[in-house]
Amino acid sequence: MLAFVSWAAHDAYPIERAVPLRWFKEVQPVTQLNPAVAAGRDKLVAQSAKLGIDVVITDGFRSMAEQDALYRQGRGDGGAVVTQAKGGESYHNYGLAIDFALRTPAGKVIWDMQYDGNRNGKPDWLEVVAIAKKLGFSWGGDWKSFRDYPHLQMDFGYSIQDLQNGWRPPTQTG
Ligand SMILES: [Zn+2]
Repeated sequence: MLAFVSWAAHDAYPIERAVPLRWFKEVQPVTQLNPAVAAGRDKLVAQSAKLGIDVVITDGFRSMAEQDALYRQGRGDGGAVVTQAKGGESYHNYGLAIDFALRTPAGKVIWDMQYDGNRNGKPDWLEVVAIAKKLGFSWGGDWKSFRDYPHLQMDFGYSIQDLQNGWRPPTQTG
C-alpha cells in the first residue's frame, strides 16, 4: 500500500493522486502486455475470424529503447515518421496497446482501410475497430491529431503522465 504523507493530504485532493507514486514506492518496469489487454487482443482475433476477417497483431508491448528507435524513424534514421511518442510516452511502453493489420487469403499483410475481404459491404478495418471498442479498446483513428489507424489501447483512466509517474492498472501493481 501507499505510504501516508501527511503534508500533502487534503480532503478535496486525495493523497493517492497528489504525489507521484515513484516518490515513495519503487515502480517495477513493465515488461509485457497487460493481461487484460492480452485477453482483449485474443478475443479481437477470434471474434474477427468469425466474421471472416483475418487480423494480424503487428505490435504489442514495446520497451523504452524500442520506442526510441521507432521515434528516430523518419527523424534521421530514414523512412516515414511512424510515431509522435518517445520512450515512455506511448501506451505500448506500459503494455496497454496493440497494433493490428489485416491478412488476405493469399497471406499478404495489408493496411488497407477500404478492403472488404468478407464482402459484406463494410470495410473489414472498421469492423475490427467496432469489435475492439466493444472489448474496451479505444482507437488511434479517433485521435484529433496524428491519427494512428492500426493502434488500439486500454488506458484504464490513466494518462501517459500518470503512467510516467508510476501509476499502474491493478493487474500490474504487483
Ligand atoms: Zn500503436
